[in-house]
Amino acid sequence: MYKIMTPGPTQVRENVRMARSLECTNPDLDPEFFDYYRETCRLISGLLHTENETLILGGEGILGLEAACASLTEPGDPVLVVDNGVFGRGFADFVELYGGKVTYYRSSCTKALDMEDFRGFLKEHHDFKYATLVHCDTPSGILNPVEDMSRELHRYGILTVVDSVSAMFGEPLSVDAGRIDIVCGGSQKALSAPPGLTFVTVSEAAKKAMEKRKTRIASFYANLLVFKDYYEKQWFPYTMPISDIKGLRTALENVKADTARLKRHARLGEMTRKAVQDMGLSLYLESGFSNTVTVIRVPERRSAADILERMKKEHHIMIAGSFDVLAGQVIRIGHMGENATEADVKETLQALRKVLES
Ligand SMILES: *Cc1c(COP(=O)(O)O)cnc(C)c1O
Repeated sequence: MYKIMTPGPTQVRENVRMARSLECTNPDLDPEFFDYYRETCRLISGLLHTENETLILGGEGILGLEAACASLTEPGDPVLVVDNGVFGRGFADFVELYGGKVTYYRSSCTKALDMEDFRGFLKEHHDFKYATLVHCDTPSGILNPVEDMSRELHRYGILTVVDSVSAMFGEPLSVDAGRIDIVCGGSQKALSAPPGLTFVTVSEAAKKAMEKRKTRIASFYANLLVFKDYYEKQWFPYTMPISDIKGLRTALENVKADTARLKRHARLGEMTRKAVQDMGLSLYLESGFSNTVTVIRVPERRSAADILERMKKEHHIMIAGSFDVLAGQVIRIGHMGENATEADVKETLQALRKVLES
């Protein structure tokens, strides 16, 4: 067994694992489960500081992103895709899959996004139905000011979809204050439940845009409207993964009880960045660091694969490489959720030091 220090999936606490083994009911027929599901959704809305409805979908994080795009996009709709990382750019695939016409706003992949520049861009180009933003673009660890961006987009009547899968619960996120229409989250990042669930918060304006469509949503599984009035009707569009949801609920309760969580993430993020630089390593980013993950350039004459392999073999710690354009270029330490303890982060940093010294 390895100590998991990857930027998702993360370590899973015992009470979450135990919750997944509790007795099951028939989630399609038991009214108590409808209450339990809705309370769990409301717990998520509360933690994200929003009055908007949350829906938990039976699928991994990617389903949330696809569902947001599938439900909002009609063929020919103009959509703004903010691209300063792999996930940012990746949103374009979903938008195009459902017939949307993508315009990119591109900014540096290694430096914090410049709000002034973004405002200037929007002044010139703002004829979009919605915009896609990524909170923490995990392959590089860049953190975007999604609340400021979303408020700015709203000034032009542009709806916003934010992928906060690897930031929420490790970085502050106030959905209503940011006027974010759809936020996508996942079970396996800072929430520290096993992979398998995604959830989305959906504003009234986003629901209206979906209901006003002239064309049908070209999906069933990724259609957010199929959940409409599920509670009143006591009817789910498909059978809910009850054990996964019990685990998720416990993980959410863990998050809620952990009031020092955001401060701890900030402190451990800072500590990790300082420690790797003290080792003589370079951070991938110049600025715009997320406190959920640290991304480190692979030193010259070393290979990412070799470092990761030795971390596992010699120290039983799993850290991550990256993918897409960053494959082989960087290694990543995930200090989010249950990984974010001083003991585990220090142990990981000491192990990395030893691997790099020999
Ligand atoms: C992890 C993650 C997702 C979910 O997708 P995976 O299949 O787990 O890669 C979506 N967006 C971001 C930013 C993520 O970090």
